[in-house]
Amino acid sequence: MDQQEKIKLLQRIVQMETVNDHESLVADYLATLFQPYPNVEMTRVRYKSGRDNLVVTIGTDHHRQLGFAGHMDVVATGDPQKWDHAPFSGDITDDFKMVGRGASDMKAGLAAMVIAALELLDQGEPQHGQIKLICTIAEESTMVGSEQLTKEGYLDDLDALVICEGSGLDISYTHNGDIDYRVTSHGKAAHSASPEMGVNAIENLMTFWHTAKAELAKFDETDAVLGNLLHNVTVIKGGEQINSIPAEADLEANIRLIPQTPAKVVKQRLEAVIATLNQQPGFELDLEYLLVGDALPGDQNGDFVQFVKRETEAEVGHEVTLSGDKGTTDGSKFIDSKGDFPMVIVGPGSNTAHQVNEYVDLNQYLKAIELYKNISLKFLEGDN
Ligand SMILES: [Zn+2]
Repeated sequence: MDQQEKIKLLQRIVQMETVNDHESLVADYLATLFQPYPNVEMTRVRYKSGRDNLVVTIGTDHHRQLGFAGHMDVVATGDPQKWDHAPFSGDITDDFKMVGRGASDMKAGLAAMVIAALELLDQGEPQHGQIKLICTIAEESTMVGSEQLTKEGYLDDLDALVICEGSGLDISYTHNGDIDYRVTSHGKAAHSASPEMGVNAIENLMTFWHTAKAELAKFDETDAVLGNLLHNVTVIKGGEQINSIPAEADLEANIRLIPQTPAKVVKQRLEAVIATLNQQPGFELDLEYLLVGDALPGDQNGDFVQFVKRETEAEVGHEVTLSGDKGTTDGSKFIDSKGDFPMVIVGPGSNTAHQVNEYVDLNQYLKAIELYKNISLKFLEGDN
C-alpha cells in the first residue's frame, strides 16, 4: 500500500461519526479490506444493532498468537465552532497532521494495526503463528465491547497484546482502573416546618458519602507508579424546593483504582457501606455501577515490554519512555480473560485526545505501521 493509500484509509475512518455509537460503520469497512485474503477469519460480535465488535484472525499456524487492540468509538466533539477544521473532516494540514475527532484517540492506531496486517498478508506472512486484531466498541463509555469479547473468550489464546492507543509512540505498561457509580437516596417529602413527617434524602446521601469516603480511604496502599486509590464525588443532585424536605437525591462518584485494589474488593466495600446504612431507619439507598474496569498491572522489566521498547526505539530512532498511565483502556477488561498475557500500550497520537483540534502527526502514523509489522514478525518467530 503506498503512503497516499495509507493516509486515505485513516481519513476514511476518521470521517465515520462513531461518537459512542455506530461503530459498525468502521467494522464493516475494515472487514471489506480483509475480504480478498484466504487464511483470514473474521467475526463480527454484535452488541446491538449498529454496534459490532470485529475480530480478525490471520494465519492458521497455532505456534504463537499476538493481538492488537483498538477501539472504533470516539468521544463527542464539543462545540464544532471551536475547531479550526470540521471535526469529522480528516483534513490534512500543511505540516502533515490529520485533524479530526478520533485522529489520535485512536483511529490512527486502529488504521495502523489494520494496514500492518494487510501488508503482512501481501508478503505472505505470517508464516508462523497468528495475528489477532481486536476492534472494540464503547471503550470511551462503558467498555461493554471489550467486556463482551473477554467473556466470550476471544482473548484466551493470546500470548501478548499491543493496545494501539495514541501514546505518541512512547510506551505505557500499567494504568489505573476505574469505578464510576451512582447512589440514589430515597426519602419522603414533607413541609420543612415539620421535618419529622418526612425523610431527608439529601442528609442520608451526605451520610453515605462521608461514610464511603472514610471507608475507602482505608485502602491506603501506594503503587510505585500509579500512586494511591482516588475517590471523588463529581455530580450531585437533589431537592426541589427550599421549604420542602427532599424526597430524592443522587450522587455520582469516580474511583481510580490501582493494581493493589481490585475492582471486586472495592465494590464489596462500597456495597457493605450501603447495606449497613440501609439497616438504619429511614435509609433507602440504591447503588448502580456505570463503569467498572480494573487497573492494569505491569512490569517495566518484563520481556514483552522490553521487546516492544527495543522495536519502538529502532523505529523512531530515539529512546522512548516507559510509564504508567492515569487513563484506562480496554486492557481493564482484557485482564479478566482466561489467558495470562502481557499487554503494552503503544500507538500514534498526540496529547490532543478528547480536545478540540485533535490531530495525529502523519509521520508518526506511518512509523506505527512499520513498528506493528516488525513487532508481529519478530514476536511470531519467537525472536525476543
Ligand atoms: Zn482511546
